Amino acid sequence: MPIGFFPAPEDETEQLTQLRRSVREFLLRERSSGSYTPWVDTWLTRWDTDFTKKLANQGWLGMTIPTEYGGHGKTFLERFVVTEELLAAGAPLAAHWVADRQIAPSILKYGTATQKHTYLPRIASGDISFGIGMSEPDSGSDLASVKTKGVRVEGGWEVTGAKVWTSGAHHADRFIVLARTKALDTLNRHAGLSQFIVDLTDSAVEVNTITSMNGSQHFNEVVLNSVFVPDDHLFGTIGNGWEQVTSELSYERSGPERVLSTYPLLEKGLASPHRRAFLPHLARVIGLRKMSFAIANALARGETPDTAAAIVKVLGTKLEGDIAETADRVRLDGFEELCSMVSASVLQRPGFTLRGGTTEILDGIIARQLGLR
Ligand SMILES: Cc1cc2nc3c(=O)[nH]c(=O)nc-3n(C[C@H](O)[C@H](O)[C@H](O)COP(=O)(O)OP(=O)(O)OC[C@H]3O[C@@H](n4cnc5c(N)ncnc54)[C@H](O)[C@@H]3O)c2cc1C
Repeated sequence: MPIGFFPAPEDETEQLTQLRRSVREFLLRERSSGSYTPWVDTWLTRWDTDFTKKLANQGWLGMTIPTEYGGHGKTFLERFVVTEELLAAGAPLAAHWVADRQIAPSILKYGTATQKHTYLPRIASGDISFGIGMSEPDSGSDLASVKTKGVRVEGGWEVTGAKVWTSGAHHADRFIVLARTKALDTLNRHAGLSQFIVDLTDSAVEVNTITSMNGSQHFNEVVLNSVFVPDDHLFGTIGNGWEQVTSELSYERSGPERVLSTYPLLEKGLASPHRRAFLPHLARVIGLRKMSFAIANALARGETPDTAAAIVKVLGTKLEGDIAETADRVRLDGFEELCSMVSASVLQRPGFTLRGGTTEILDGIIARQLGLR
């Protein structure tokens, strides 16, 4: 598969084009040395700590983290160019994805000075990984209904409950848990929530892997059996958990991974005799990447583009699924590797529109913003 088909914007600055070129050259070298095989949905399903370390050595992790915290002080746009090239090439990204995408900016925004100095350099060097501890068995879309509790004890908090669908928790070092630290107030359901940094290797934490319908294992149930979380692992401010997770979700919803999870398959389709069937999808990719890029710009300006991020996620994840469906329909066969890539895409498809907030929930957010509800 030729890397480089990805349609870079015509008006890109020379500096970004040069960066894009160096990522492609790196990827070509890695592919030809057999270090990875392009695949779909690699930011969730391909955990490869060696590859993550190689990216860190190139300076492509923690790009937007300030240099005083061990990062590279680059812009969101530079990070955007690097991540879209990595995604389009189907490189293995899961080992650092959550930490690099949302935990680093959250720590910068809400972490203590000690947390910044402890975690940010290790995120930039690819030496620590994180999971997201939001969803629970009965709390997904309605996140404010989480039942995991944080109870004040001497020197910290005792956290008890169960999280579910925690991607990568069986490999990750830490996850940030959303818990209720004050009884639910039905008139203000978003109050009384807080976040804690929990060590996934703690003996009071049980990680039970969930097997997906395609037999793969990437997400988990995580049971917290009265885990002691010291005060310095409280994340942000007690009672401010809702604002913090909402801010985190802006980073989670708007990036190029909400458009490009099946791009390696689209690239195969465009190079096949069925090219015409895939061209409309390419046009959609080009439009959506502009929108996603604009959101990266807004985030860089310190804005919170929640509605725009929701729109990109709804449209982008639909496109990802449509690429899988087209490939399945035209029977993009010829190579065994390609057939399994098509079936992996089809089986991953239901997750595209669920993870990070379902389409129905995002439709609601968009409608409210437009004053339609
Ligand atoms: C691949 C994958 C990875 C994930 N990784 C993580 C992770 O790492 N960490 C984490 O915390 N979570 C993770 N999740 C969980 C994900 O965030 C939830 O699945 C999602 O928020 C939906 O919650 P739910 O599964 O409980 O479904 P529910 O909330 O029970 O929803 C079921 C259905 O009802 C619809 N629905 C619910 N409420 C409304 C409403 N008010 N209006 C209209 N329709 C509604 C939904 O759209 C959905 O179709 C992951 C999920 C997937 C699929």
